[in-house]
Amino acid sequence: MMIGIEALTFAYPNQPPVFQDFSWQVAAGEAWAVIGPSGCGKSTLLYLIAGLRQPRAGRLSVSGQPVPRPRASTGLILQDYGLLPWATVWENVALVMRLGRLYRAKSGPPDGSRPYPRADIGADQVDRWLLRLGIADLRDKFPNQISGGQRQRTAIARSLLQQPNLLLMDEPFSSLDALSREDLQRLTIELQRETGVTTLVVTHNIEEAVYMGRRILVLGRAPNTHAWVIDNPGAGAPAYRGRPAYWDKCAELRAALEAGAGGAASEAAAAETARAAAAGAAAAATEASGGAS
Ligand code: ADP
Repeated sequence: MMIGIEALTFAYPNQPPVFQDFSWQVAAGEAWAVIGPSGCGKSTLLYLIAGLRQPRAGRLSVSGQPVPRPRASTGLILQDYGLLPWATVWENVALVMRLGRLYRAKSGPPDGSRPYPRADIGADQVDRWLLRLGIADLRDKFPNQISGGQRQRTAIARSLLQQPNLLLMDEPFSSLDALSREDLQRLTIELQRETGVTTLVVTHNIEEAVYMGRRILVLGRAPNTHAWVIDNPGAGAPAYRGRPAYWDKCAELRAALEAGAGGAASEAAAAETARAAAAGAAAAATEASGGAS
């Protein structure tokens, strides 16, 4: 199990809980999208898994270990890229290699988790990731000389250089224009396939969740007490966006969000709405294709 969450409760100080008695599991190698309305706790969940926040009650483990602090084998990609403005693309990516060497002498905690980047990353691997991310010719540019999409590619290259087994992305593409966003969604899916890294993409965008998440966690208004999961096996296929099954899944997810995840009652109501929506979408598709199926 890559992520195990059991009866987790979390609240910010003097606030009602964001998660209460919440359980959820992610198997190694899975590609998830996490969706829900603004303020429902998507980022909080990601930060808990990243070790940047601590549960108030319950258990949370990554690779079978609790996460009292961030671990180097978890990559975290945020919307604002987190690049150093005074360092070039190459230097921003190579930072991980340098940090790994800096910490070489330090031993990790006895539980075997790795808090520091690997010490054995070479400059050739920096070059290889720049090439794979399509930014090799930008190696000497500074972040303010490249586009948002290219900055996010730099941030992704830096994360993958650490050979993470878990990649957490918090609304990674929401500040990009539509075409760059689609490019990066496709590239992320390819990279996930190539590396087998377990991936969680937080988004508030229905189409993005359905395109990227082979499994989708739907969160509702806080407190979240129940992991509501929509399976979406078609995700990740290059042509998925053009298929009726994709639009059916978008309708199902929209209905789930409108019903508001959280309770068993709302789940049943949403399942009903989703069936109706899917039937409607199927009828519309049949009509659009002139009745042929
Ligand atoms: P989302 O990512 O789904 O928009 P968040 O996880 O950011 O939601 O926030 C969940 C809830 O916790 C919101 O009500 C938000 O206002 C609150 N919250 C987030 N961060 C903090 C913080 N550092 N201190 C207090 N409350 C916070």
